[in-house]
Amino acid sequence: MKNRILETLTKFWGYTSFRSYQEEAILSILEERDTLTVLPTGGGKSVCFQLPALISEGMAVIVSPLLSLMKDQVDDLKDIGIAAECLNSSLTPKDQYSVTEKIRDGSLKLLYLSPERLLFNHTLDLLKSVKISFFVIDEAHCISHWGHNFREEYRQLGFIKKEFKNIGVHAFTATATPEVRQDIVKQLNLEEPHLYIGNMDRPNLNYRVLPRSSQLLGQIVNVIKKHPNEQGIVYCLRRADVDEISAKLNDLGIQNLPYHAGLSDEERKKNQDQFSSESVHIIVATIAFGMGVDCSNIRYVIHAAMPKSIEHYQQETGRAGRDGLSADCTLFYSGSDYRTWEYMLRDSSNQKVMLSKLSAMYNFCVRPQCRHRTLVHYFAHAYENNNCGACDYCLGEVEMAQEPLLIGQKIISCVARVRERFGADHVADVLKGNRTAAIERWGHEKISTFSLMNSETKVFIRFMIEQLIGQGFLRRENEFMTLTITESGRKLLKGDLVPVLAKPIVAAKKKEIEAKRVSRRAREWEGFDEKLFQALRAKRAELAQTKNVPAYIIFSDKTLKDMALNSPKTIEQFANIFGVGAAKQRQYGQIFVDVIKNYESQTLN
Ligand code: ADP
Ligand code: ZN
Repeated sequence: MKNRILETLTKFWGYTSFRSYQEEAILSILEERDTLTVLPTGGGKSVCFQLPALISEGMAVIVSPLLSLMKDQVDDLKDIGIAAECLNSSLTPKDQYSVTEKIRDGSLKLLYLSPERLLFNHTLDLLKSVKISFFVIDEAHCISHWGHNFREEYRQLGFIKKEFKNIGVHAFTATATPEVRQDIVKQLNLEEPHLYIGNMDRPNLNYRVLPRSSQLLGQIVNVIKKHPNEQGIVYCLRRADVDEISAKLNDLGIQNLPYHAGLSDEERKKNQDQFSSESVHIIVATIAFGMGVDCSNIRYVIHAAMPKSIEHYQQETGRAGRDGLSADCTLFYSGSDYRTWEYMLRDSSNQKVMLSKLSAMYNFCVRPQCRHRTLVHYFAHAYENNNCGACDYCLGEVEMAQEPLLIGQKIISCVARVRERFGADHVADVLKGNRTAAIERWGHEKISTFSLMNSETKVFIRFMIEQLIGQGFLRRENEFMTLTITESGRKLLKGDLVPVLAKPIVAAKKKEIEAKRVSRRAREWEGFDEKLFQALRAKRAELAQTKNVPAYIIFSDKTLKDMALNSPKTIEQFANIFGVGAAKQRQYGQIFVDVIKNYESQTLN
């Protein structure tokens, strides 16, 4: 069986080996044993159920929460020659009828459905009348209150095991903490499932987390400029921020499209299609964008504000670099993001859980340590690597403050001296020794901590205060954002706990970071003809636009990069390129071989 599944992978998908847990998950599905598979975004979950569906008798039913996701997967499958369809409300009655016919006559290998659709009586009757190979519950974390994307209809999916006895049910998700995992197994009534929990790390993502300055636009532009012509997403918290940033970027000549729930369905679809087919490179969006977007070639994600949980952060950054090639994730956060979310979550039914997720997220931002390690630990996995080589901390872009304990003690004792009745800005002024009107009014120029940190800038002091808050030594309270000292803050005063404090990044450091980045990128492209790569991308965009499908469905960046490295000159050579199966070779081989030949004859002349 092992040989057979590997042959199928190569013949249809053009891949020559399995990624971790794919083979195990496939074998378990073929053995009709229930499974829960947790693999990070881009880990290759789809193949885990598409491949066994292809070689099993009957039709597999895939429950998926999003129409657009279904459509892309179905297009993708058809493009490699596998019979798949989806059944949902976006189809015309005629198309629905024709899909129903295909189900009846047994010609489909995969059927994608929304949970609502599956719950319809006539859908159930239809499915009971045909041979089902197995069920898949995609994005299974939606079933759990402990997850970050709870969906009511998912809650009812436990009935599958009861209605379809002896048919395997397989759950897949990218983000699941241990609570969510248990909940999935329980809610779906999985029977002694095999669990495959992959490493949640995404080694090809370069994480950077920076405090947001008053020049956010400049910060965003700086990142964009490092990725000319590459696909990127800028995430904002609110619709108004999307509109503002999108318009300002366009004013600067940086072409982009907005995306949020306030736009009409039509406009959203148009913008998403233009981005997917690469006629536009940048999309500025709320988190409404991305669920259901599987583009594998997104080279960077910028967060203009902090998400409300690490699960969200993981999911949003996870959209970058799904092809496994290097991609940049840059987050600009501020203490005000924490407060905005706290306010927005005030009426949430799940407030306690949500607030603890929010704190973990803020701590991730302000605690300088390996970002990969922190994310992996959050999902309760071990992280062996001492230096990930792919985060601001490990790349040496973060400079640690000397004597963090002393700094922490100075700040916290100042908070005590002003009787825990003032906000961060005032405390920073006192420590800096600024004689502001407020300071004179309260006589704070006379207290012992006045001017205690006068050799540092106020920016430095504020940055330290934010880190102390994020790490739980100080807390902001009431509508005046008064700083108070927590239990661990008192321990810090006694020297029993030590904070981890980074310095704000100054101009000289920025230059050094940039120089290192340029040399890393040069190394990455060593041996590749980048111009040929761009020519291949242009052809891909042209095909995507004519066929009206996302560019990645034609070929991933990784496949194009392999073409640029090996420049195949015949269809036979073309078959050896990464990600080229039989159907792709037939459909696109000649077209891309011609691009390569043309390019070479032009560069020779
Ligand atoms: P997920 O659903 O887990 O986020 P996908 O199924 O979309 O991930 O896979 C991400 C990318 O990896 C896709 O471009 C997919 O074709 C590719 N991929 C999947 N399995 C393999 C493999 N064994 N070898 C190489 N690439 C693979
Ligand atoms: Zn690291």
